[in-house]
Amino acid sequence: MTLQTLGHWINGQEVAAPADARTLDVHNPATGKVVRRVALADADQVGEAVAAAAAAFPGWRDTALSRRAAILFRFRELLNARQPELAALITEEHGKVLADAMGEVSRGQEVVEFACGMPHLLKGGFTENASTGVDVHSVRQPLGVSAIISPFNFPAMVPMWFFPVAIAAGNTVVVKPSEKDPSPANWLAALWAEAGLPEGVFNVVHGDKEAVDALLTDPQVASVSFVGSTPVARYVYEHGTASGKRVQALGGAKNHMLVLPDADLDLAADAAVSAGYGAAGERCMAISAVVAVDSIADELVAKISERTQGLRVGDGTRSCDMGPLITAEHRDKVAAYVDAGEEAGATLVLDGRSVDPDAEGDGFFLNPTLLDDVTPDMTVYTDEIFGPVLSVVRVEGYEEGLQLINGNPYGNGTAIFTNDGGAARRFQNEVEVGMIGINVPIPVPMAYYSFGGWKNSLFGDSHAHGTEGVHFFTRGKVVTSRWLDPSHAGLQLGFPTNA
Ligand code: NAD
Repeated sequence: MTLQTLGHWINGQEVAAPADARTLDVHNPATGKVVRRVALADADQVGEAVAAAAAAFPGWRDTALSRRAAILFRFRELLNARQPELAALITEEHGKVLADAMGEVSRGQEVVEFACGMPHLLKGGFTENASTGVDVHSVRQPLGVSAIISPFNFPAMVPMWFFPVAIAAGNTVVVKPSEKDPSPANWLAALWAEAGLPEGVFNVVHGDKEAVDALLTDPQVASVSFVGSTPVARYVYEHGTASGKRVQALGGAKNHMLVLPDADLDLAADAAVSAGYGAAGERCMAISAVVAVDSIADELVAKISERTQGLRVGDGTRSCDMGPLITAEHRDKVAAYVDAGEEAGATLVLDGRSVDPDAEGDGFFLNPTLLDDVTPDMTVYTDEIFGPVLSVVRVEGYEEGLQLINGNPYGNGTAIFTNDGGAARRFQNEVEVGMIGINVPIPVPMAYYSFGGWKNSLFGDSHAHGTEGVHFFTRGKVVTSRWLDPSHAGLQLGFPTNA
């Protein structure tokens, strides 16, 4: 059987890559089989996509806001009707279970819904008679071509954190999805075409570092929204800003969940299992460190262990709880972290390295692993593992737990489990992390708030979507105007004052 090679999406249609283009195999991680290939763009192809977006910009910028919003509403309706199709594609290439893929699409769709309100969000201010006979008003205008570079773990939702807002605000976009699960981006591009978006407003180029570098240096790219690992986020931020672009670069994470002695331990154990092993731990908001106060740690570990043993691991299309990891290499890397944790003296409560998944073929599976007595010097604690490995670090109390979290170089998400409102209130004030859950394990903000971490989890000033997203994709102008009346004062060489 000849495999299809997924092409780029430029100017309203899929464009095949040149015959000599580099390609990459795309796997179904649940079977280990290659399901298609993806073309990897070189600088010329990236240039074509950027040129298409740049050519479409003036027309789209000047399209009436009500018409732009109407196209977004149509896109929302189509996405709503065809959510299972997109979810199936996500499961095929990423491996996450279907219910989780449906959840991913829903959370992306919420940003589309937020962006449908762009006519309201773009309203400026107006001051009448700021000075005698002088009025002042502000407007926000789109930037131009916005590049969006996304990671493998949310092939639909992460691009959707950005493009609905960018497009509704009048920008045109070039999406560079992860080469590991590229198809959802083309599916979304076709949906935009069906919704009536003009050609060239939404483009997709597939590729790796070569394509990213071309976007970072193309003078027609005005902004870059990046999500991925911390070293690449830092690189994208440094190189993008050096080329004069506006950049927001969201990086990796190591999310802690602090469990105080007065917490509901059943709730905390449910949360740890769901947030630790959901999507096989391949979420930037996954819990990877459970920080348990000593006095309840034994009981909590027992409850987490009992629940974890009931999880079914297998093909995401078979109603399992947890799917495979993204590649064989990543599966091996995660297993090596478990080896290292064991060698460093952590207690192996559940060993996920032996696995008998509910799947056909040779998928990239691991079972959930639970490590207790993890200390902050072990690599299972210091590194972002991005797999189904939960580490329990024991602390004496709140203070030690807080210091541990604040000492960590990442600051994406965190959670506290307690029934003490005063402790929760102190935590939200004192913890140096961007997104905080109180008895909520994965505190992903709603679309009308903004998503983003602190420290090594975000480079730049703007978080994704919400008000910060609208600001990122627009720039402000303030207009001061005077319509002369017969009393105007003639020449005035002094600095204007408000009289
Ligand atoms: P990654 O950094 O390997 O890749 C992200 C993107 O960058 C991809 O499009 C990839 O093609 C490109 N890329 C990879 N290496 C590059 C290089 N050397 N130069 C230029 N571009 C390069 O990340 P990933 O493995 O796809 O995704 C997992 C990571 O993303 C995790 O670290 C996770 O925490 C992070 N993530 C963060 C958030 C967040 O909101 N902070 C959300 C989702 C994922």
